[in-house]
Amino acid sequence: TNHGLGDWIHRREVKSAGRMAITAGTLELTYEQFSERINRLANAMSERGVQRGDRVAFLGENSVEFLETLFALGSIGAVFVPLNTRLAGPEVAFHLDDAGAKILVASHTMEPLVAAGVAETDVERVIVVDDGSRVPAEDGRLTLPVEQYGDVLEGASATRPQVNVGIDDLAIILYTSGTTGNPKGAMLSHANMTWNALNVISDMDISNHEVALMISPMFHVAALGMGVLPTFLKGGHLILEPRFEPGRALQLIEQHKATYISGVPTTYQMLAEHPDWETTDISSLHNLTCGGSAVPLRILETYEDRGLSFTMGYGMTETAPGATTLPARYSREKMGSAGLPQMHTHIRVADFDGNELPPNEVGEVQIQGPNVISGYWERPEANESSFITDDGGTWFRSGDMGYMDDDGFLFISDRLKDMIISGGENIYPAQIEQELAQMESIASVAVFGVANEKWGEVPRAAVVVREGHELTEEDVLSYLDGKLARYKIPKSVVFVDDMPRTASGKVRKPQLRELHGE
Ligand code: ATP
Ligand code: MG
Repeated sequence: TNHGLGDWIHRREVKSAGRMAITAGTLELTYEQFSERINRLANAMSERGVQRGDRVAFLGENSVEFLETLFALGSIGAVFVPLNTRLAGPEVAFHLDDAGAKILVASHTMEPLVAAGVAETDVERVIVVDDGSRVPAEDGRLTLPVEQYGDVLEGASATRPQVNVGIDDLAIILYTSGTTGNPKGAMLSHANMTWNALNVISDMDISNHEVALMISPMFHVAALGMGVLPTFLKGGHLILEPRFEPGRALQLIEQHKATYISGVPTTYQMLAEHPDWETTDISSLHNLTCGGSAVPLRILETYEDRGLSFTMGYGMTETAPGATTLPARYSREKMGSAGLPQMHTHIRVADFDGNELPPNEVGEVQIQGPNVISGYWERPEANESSFITDDGGTWFRSGDMGYMDDDGFLFISDRLKDMIISGGENIYPAQIEQELAQMESIASVAVFGVANEKWGEVPRAAVVVREGHELTEEDVLSYLDGKLARYKIPKSVVFVDDMPRTASGKVRKPQLRELHGE
């Protein structure tokens, strides 16, 4: 028996017979068609030596093949390892090697990256997803066996594979962004993904009539956990595009009467800034989720003007990814809050010994629940330091600092590793960054700590000036005067051309400190 997500589409075949599972451009698949393709790929993987527990990586933009690979591996108990398409060659190699991937399924658009990435890894074979018009092996750069995805499906049996898969088996290894150090492979089990989907369904009222538009890359756990899996678990309809393009997304919302979108603040902002925003009928939307970082007030207001509200959320790769949600009805009253723990998940704010702190005191956010991973792939040290066990069970240490208010709503202050301690006072760079982000002339800003003889550490701001604007250190510092406590105001400003960022777009503070910390 298969207790994992590899069985979901198969079960939907009957429960949701005749209903559309996916629309991707001109390709439309019912649940029956989708299920048949998954069976074929699963059998093809088994024939190529993929066994329960083996890892297979995927490198490519959003596509039907991405999802077929996920569910096919799930139906034979193998592990899906999605890679970020914005990684550089050596980073792809690092991930493939770290996960010990046996096969790489990749979009033909990724070929140069594939060639650079597979060298000196355990990858034995590459399956290329393309339109079938050319033979990738003739390309000459890849020395491994290369097959075309279409041929692989065609040559395989469509019968349902019979493999035992347990709910606690590993389903996905997904690498964290590496904002605070090297990326780590979060070991997401079938149970983790299932419980997160159940959390989302119950907190967002996801129904089987949902038409979900994917506007985020699926190699992040947020798109899978917030969008794809809850939609399929309920038998809804998923609309896919290879990549996010705001004009096209607006068109698809109107055309398919989309009901559900999950995204990050930037994508919502891009939709609202598009020239077609005003004229597009978006009245079908009723479920919008937004997370990954705090949602700026002006985005909230722009959507409220169209009668739409957000369910905001806080989470991370390690929680598959939902930890908290702020129900839309609280978005004003609890402005800036990450919300309440998701339905089957528990949150506490504790000191470093694991003692729970009273309301309004800042400490580390710790998380417990069936959606929380049991560890990182082959990282004994990180596993040792990331969990804390006491009478109340095992808690995951998020590395985020925050507090609970009197009503139990969580507020995130900053990341533990970014926190600056100056003269015994804790300074949260996020607060300073939020103030400075309001300045017209600032395109982006990041605050970090630099060593100081008197205070131990003092804040410094790195600023990218908006094009066509001018800005001095004095302008920046005087802007903060009176807005923040004196000790929080940066002692210096460096002007930079751009910020070092992770593949997911977050600022790499360790690198910033290295470059501009002297
Ligand atoms: P690494 O752990 O490798 O340094 P990362 O933590 O950036 O990388 P992710 O799992 O993609 O990798 O990001 C999760 C983090 O994003 C959270 O721990 C938190 O710091 C931040 N975050 C997510 N949602 C929110 C939110 N609503 N408000 C503030 N911060 C958020
Ligand atoms: Mg993290």
